[in-house]
Amino acid sequence: MNNTVNKKYDALALLSGGLDSILAMRTVMDQGLSVLGLHYVTPFFGKAHLIPFWKDHYGIEVVAVDICQQYVDMMLDGPSQGYGKWLNPCIDCKITMLSHAVELLTEYEAEFLISGEVVGQRPMSQREDALNLITKRAVVRDVLLRPLCAKKLPSTPMEASGLVDREKLHDWYGRGRKEQYKLAAHYGFTEIPTPAGGCCLTEANGAARFVQLLIHKTRPTPNDFALARVGRQYWAGSHWLTFGRTAADNAQVEACLQSSDSTLKVQGFPGPLAVCRPVAEEWDAKAIEDAAALVASYSTKARKHAEKTGEHITVRVQCGEEWHDINVMPSRDNLLDWTEPKPEIVKAWKKDLLEADR
Ligand code: SF4
Repeated sequence: MNNTVNKKYDALALLSGGLDSILAMRTVMDQGLSVLGLHYVTPFFGKAHLIPFWKDHYGIEVVAVDICQQYVDMMLDGPSQGYGKWLNPCIDCKITMLSHAVELLTEYEAEFLISGEVVGQRPMSQREDALNLITKRAVVRDVLLRPLCAKKLPSTPMEASGLVDREKLHDWYGRGRKEQYKLAAHYGFTEIPTPAGGCCLTEANGAARFVQLLIHKTRPTPNDFALARVGRQYWAGSHWLTFGRTAADNAQVEACLQSSDSTLKVQGFPGPLAVCRPVAEEWDAKAIEDAAALVASYSTKARKHAEKTGEHITVRVQCGEEWHDINVMPSRDNLLDWTEPKPEIVKAWKKDLLEADR
């Protein structure tokens, strides 16, 4: 996804798509410097499809940068600074992105990096000590500028050398958003994105889905995490069943398919595309049939037809090129104990992690 732009830039900016990252980039661009936004994409965040919109609406140039594997490795090795409220490893997240971005400076012949943090804005990753730690661990002390709160921080080499005019940077501090909205209005932005830019690691339900996966699989892949994010998730022991709620979900399920997966699709009625992914054990015929009955119950027309006529519903089971049909009665009263991941498991999992570390 590193769609290299063949051009030299003065700076590279971490661009989440949140308002602060856009304003930080524009603040430096206002000084006549050229800036390229790096939009990091992982299984947990990233909206690369918005890049053309950002260019049109905010006047910024952005490329998508895929760090799925590095990011998942960081999560699986255990973030050194722990997690926020849910599964968000904000400090290590920033370290991972900045460590990667600093390596790109040479590629774009850029002099420095930009990040849209504001001191004191977020409890975990934007305390002053956290900002210092991020800078130190990512080894970016001499090349990182935080334009939104620069005047609250010691001068950087870019300011000292005159490359960047410190006077034109900001001195924002804390959780207030007044200055951000004022500057957004100054630029004429009519679409104001959320501050953080969207990250499902900060959501209770997102965290529960990923923790459920982590409980059953020691080293899930980026593809596993991407699948865990989609549609409906059901687990029965280590049997992992995913299916779409919408046509868009079904397309995402399809995009995640691997050769060892079996799909389930109701025949003759509209219904979700489901995938049975082997984790710790193979799926036997009974488990497949049970999952098919559950999936068929989410096809309203199939369910009503079965209720009205007493007839079974045909579900196609496919693995690679091989397929066969089975007949089931749509049911949510199943043989296996299918349950959806609940946010409560996140706290318990984090507590176990802490105890294991002691
Ligand atoms: S909210 Fe998500 S994307 Fe933002 S710093 Fe935290 S982990 Fe990273």
